[in-house]
Amino acid sequence: MRVRFLGTGAASGWPNPYCSCSSCCDERAAGRARSSTSLLVDEQLLLDCGPAALDGARALHQSLAAVEHVVITHGHPDHLAPAFLLFRHWAHAHQGQTKPHLHLWAPPLALAACEPWIAPQDLGSRVQLHALVAGTQHQLTTANASYTLRTLPASHGRPVEPSSGEPGQDEPDDALASEAVLLDLEDDDGVRLLYATDTGPLSPAALAMTSDREYHLVCIEETFGSFLDHHTGHLDLRTFASTIEHLANTRAITARTTVIAVHLGHHNPPTPKLRDMLAPMGADVVDDGTTLTLSASRADSHSARNIAPRCTHLVLGGARSGKSRYAEGLSAQFDSVVYIACARRDSTDAEWMERIAAHRQRRPGHWRTEETTQLAASIKGHQDEAACILIDCLGTWVTALVDDADAWQDRSRATTVVMSACDALTTAISESRASVVLVSNEVGSGVVPSSASGRLFRDLLGMVNLRVAQVCDKSTLMVAGRGLALADLTAHSTVEDVP
Ligand SMILES: [Zn+2]
Ligand SMILES: [Zn+2]
Repeated sequence: MRVRFLGTGAASGWPNPYCSCSSCCDERAAGRARSSTSLLVDEQLLLDCGPAALDGARALHQSLAAVEHVVITHGHPDHLAPAFLLFRHWAHAHQGQTKPHLHLWAPPLALAACEPWIAPQDLGSRVQLHALVAGTQHQLTTANASYTLRTLPASHGRPVEPSSGEPGQDEPDDALASEAVLLDLEDDDGVRLLYATDTGPLSPAALAMTSDREYHLVCIEETFGSFLDHHTGHLDLRTFASTIEHLANTRAITARTTVIAVHLGHHNPPTPKLRDMLAPMGADVVDDGTTLTLSASRADSHSARNIAPRCTHLVLGGARSGKSRYAEGLSAQFDSVVYIACARRDSTDAEWMERIAAHRQRRPGHWRTEETTQLAASIKGHQDEAACILIDCLGTWVTALVDDADAWQDRSRATTVVMSACDALTTAISESRASVVLVSNEVGSGVVPSSASGRLFRDLLGMVNLRVAQVCDKSTLMVAGRGLALADLTAHSTVEDVP
């Protein structure tokens, strides 16, 4: 599936030509411009067609002649400028050629707004109208492909926080907003796209429909940036982040999903800063005109990509640093991933069990999960060169080893147990034909722990990290969702080797 972004902006575009706020001025000065949001899929399907879709196509030298289906999410003027039907009619009016068919899909009111723009002799024949209602499924066929379109209810027609008493910019009784839908499009090869604009935080019904979809591309609106008190059926940076979380929990978004923020308005910081803010969420922005090519099955992406080169990589970081997500991204390059969870299940600790479940839900369905502390044996058991073994994480592994030896009160025995397991681990990493990605906690930077067991844990894990880093090709330190590649400076220094 080839997806071209004809526009990525909010209703008035970004910059808004009338506006002299710093965000609009920065974008203008940098030569950046975003027209209202519209996507062209495989040159045959157009998702939303506001006034800027045609201008965008013209500016990008993109022909729309092959478009057979136009799908409209709702009738707001930035998503539907029905005069496009007349302009399209003119393209064929005097050429004596057969006019190609067009299928127009839109919610009922939006569809009614289109009718006056269609030549009476074409209505129902050359131009066919199809009403879209949330929760339905349709087959869209073109000359050389077929797509399944599912519609999800948008949350566009009501303010986000009705209790605030503030009227929203989108009136609660805005009928065009109330019938808005989100689009789930799947092609013959199983490539899936979620197009989610305009909407506030997704309803439970919409989220339920994204369950296990494992989209290849998710385009979510992020209209309001750092302006949080807008009380509209749109998203801002805060609700955009929580929407991604929710979609990760339903496994709509996995480590292999490309997430793009669209419908961007001038309450956002300038694009480079916005990109920095989206990166920790696993999202990005693209310029108008960008084309993304999404590969279909794992087998196809495999042959197109070749096998990722073998690599051993240690990913360190503090709590909530983004280390697991980064490691999952590294592993996702491989067609076969074995995920080794070292976390001990403790059914008496509900919060811990929830965290394990959330981690598991985020992982693609085809990854195999093993729960073990026998890391060396596990690595030896998976010696496929095209595979990646992802170990998460060494902190819980060290804890489990000392727990099993009941050695928290016996520093010397704990050290012996952990170091001998670590020796076996580093040997297995060195000899592995499969790639190995290891996640570990960086716990040495804070204050000295007050308890003896806390100090023991810090020292043991520091030693494990040091030894594993020595045998890995790469080490990365994650801080606040950003990664720092660590250089090997130990060649000319003595390495402290006793915890
Ligand atoms: Zn809009
Ligand atoms: Zn709208």
